[in-house]
Amino acid sequence: KPEVKQEILKKAKDLDVQFIRLQFTDIFGVMKNVAITRDQLEKALDGELMFDGSSIEGFVRIEESDMYLKPDPDTFAVFPWRPQEGAVARLICDIYNPDGTPFSGCPRNTLKKVIAEAKEMGYTMNVGPEAEFFLFHTDQNGKPTLETHDKAGYFDLTPVDQGENARRDMVLTLQQLGFEIEASHHEVAPGQHEIDFKYDDALTTADNILTFKYVVRTLAQRHGLHATFMAKPIMGINGSGMHCNQSLFKDGKNAFYDPNGELELSEDAHYYIGGLVKHARAMAAITNPTINSYKRLVPGYEAPVYVAWSARNRSPLIRIPARRGVGTRVEMRNPDPSTNPYLAIAVMLKAGLDGIKNKIEAPKPVNQNIYEMNAAQRAEVGIDSLPGSLEEALVELKGNTIIQSALGEHIYRRFVDAKQLEWDKYRIQVTNWELENYLTMF
Ligand code: ADP
Ligand code: MG
Ligand code: MG
Repeated sequence: KPEVKQEILKKAKDLDVQFIRLQFTDIFGVMKNVAITRDQLEKALDGELMFDGSSIEGFVRIEESDMYLKPDPDTFAVFPWRPQEGAVARLICDIYNPDGTPFSGCPRNTLKKVIAEAKEMGYTMNVGPEAEFFLFHTDQNGKPTLETHDKAGYFDLTPVDQGENARRDMVLTLQQLGFEIEASHHEVAPGQHEIDFKYDDALTTADNILTFKYVVRTLAQRHGLHATFMAKPIMGINGSGMHCNQSLFKDGKNAFYDPNGELELSEDAHYYIGGLVKHARAMAAITNPTINSYKRLVPGYEAPVYVAWSARNRSPLIRIPARRGVGTRVEMRNPDPSTNPYLAIAVMLKAGLDGIKNKIEAPKPVNQNIYEMNAAQRAEVGIDSLPGSLEEALVELKGNTIIQSALGEHIYRRFVDAKQLEWDKYRIQVTNWELENYLTMF
């Protein structure tokens, strides 16, 4: 599209952009950057910029290391916090092989493949994430601590502290980048915050999550704070989740809404829930991808532990918020913000589509408090648990060909190998807890 290219070249010139960061993620969702100057922008937009793929985790072997970056022109944005003379812009890229085919190790390509599958069935997926994070103080050497200065709780307005100021700055910056911020508030734990932005189509939202984390981290740093998206930084207080509100649209209408359906939900919605429930345990390896993720998924801290859904209860894995009409949606509550947003959305969409394709019946909704049921009572109504560890989640993923197919062979293999290694390294650690409990006892 030559017009689109010319438009971006002109914009870059008019806005005095000197540097452009070409962004993409590795299979773990860690953002990578290749910085170019404006005179290379045209070549970049033509998809002619090469980089060494072997330097990126989970990508390729040395002997096949030439990769091409194909920027998505829709993602052109100028960083508002950088000087406006000699500005810095970014473009999010897809990765291509030298032969011009999409690279199967690129998470963004992977999501696009599942989106195409949905499109073939007539669906567009919309996703609205609610990402939580902690703001911690840094020490004299700039290293992050676990200290927060605030004593605020959920929705507290006072005292206005350093964290509140930083969050205000984050919201303003995100708005300058075109985000529609729906809510921004202090979360339950000290130092914990949440910023919600408006839902969008699956690919845009995955890109937005990437940008969101980048903005939050950058601006935290500018306020002398450290932002973390790890799932459970401190034992004994709530961890950080990233609830994913999701819906399918067909012909411009919300396909989950049916005023005459059970709970005013359509058959599609019921089957989609059926798919999410069926694949939840295998998906956890992607949506909750770290050792630490499973320390959040424990009873007592508002995080889901059991595989169940409800339209009434706030605690289950899958909640159906009360809104109907265009806002009808399914909220998946186990993902945490350490997940790779492209892969997380890809597997959830795949699971839902599998539900619709194969008419997977959702189990009965569970409206009583699952945390007050004992194991026998849960077994009686068929309520499973989410995996208790990364290792358990990997076993599930290895046994689930639907979720594997959403990831594709390349990402699936490398992801599992890397995560297995992570688990093995963790398994041999001797922790403080063990020393405290065993050193003097035995
Ligand atoms: P909660 O009830 O968990 O506090 P919020 O109202 O804070 O939920 O979050 C709602 C999120 O759901 C927002 O990101 C919003 O844009 C998103 N959302 C609203 N309608 C839809 C929809 N039809 N599909 C997907 N996401 C939606
Ligand atoms: Mg919330
Ligand atoms: Mg929520």
